Amino acid sequence: MTERAVVFAGGGPAGLMLAGELALAGVDVAIVERRPNQDLAGSRAGGLLTRTIEVLDQRGIADRFISQGQKHQVPMFAGTSFISDLPTRHNYVLGLWQKHIERILAGWVGELKVPIHGGNVSARTPIAASTRRPQLSSRPSPPDQAELPHQSVY
Ligand SMILES: Cc1cc2nc3c(=O)[nH]c(=O)nc-3n(C[C@H](O)[C@H](O)[C@H](O)COP(=O)(O)OP(=O)(O)OC[C@H]3O[C@@H](n4cnc5c(N)ncnc54)[C@H](O)[C@@H]3O)c2cc1C
Repeated sequence: MTERAVVFAGGGPAGLMLAGELALAGVDVAIVERRPNQDLAGSRAGGLLTRTIEVLDQRGIADRFISQGQKHQVPMFAGTSFISDLPTRHNYVLGLWQKHIERILAGWVGELKVPIHGGNVSARTPIAASTRRPQLSSRPSPPDQAELPHQSVY
């Protein structure tokens, strides 16, 4: 069994992004995903909003998404008014299907050496987990905590 500081159950957009963030902070992280690849049943999310693109820009990867999506100046998105004079470099909605968003994020976390274990995760694969805090390289080490082991089944 391989020991990791953090294991994400699920390599959707949230798991991929958070895994990348932790990897940048020096945390030893892995993802387990039950799908074999980024193919999705149905369309799911169809784009990225300004703030999300700004966050991706802060990580230096916004252009990967922008180059594969379509910029739309729209007054409304998902029932929310979109303020078109926002003081931002990304003053638009980017049309891009979720499978592409996930594929691009998976490429990024791959560059950060985050392993994604996919396709062979059964509903009963056990993961042993503890509550020990991961060490973040950008912060002082937290005080030692008592380890409280428990068993997670996913
Ligand atoms: C039908 C539908 C339409 C949608 N349309 C839109 C839209 O138009 N616009 C929009 O912005 N958003 C839309 N969404 C929402 C968008 O898809 C979600 O916000 C987004 O997928 C959330 O990402 P996530 O990473 O949190 O979760 P998910 O994308 O659900 O990712 C979770 C991942 O965990 C994996 N997983 C689950 N259980 C396990 C397990 N036990 N072991 C290993 N892996 C596991 C799953 O396979 C999945 O890949 C839609 C969602 C649905 C369902």
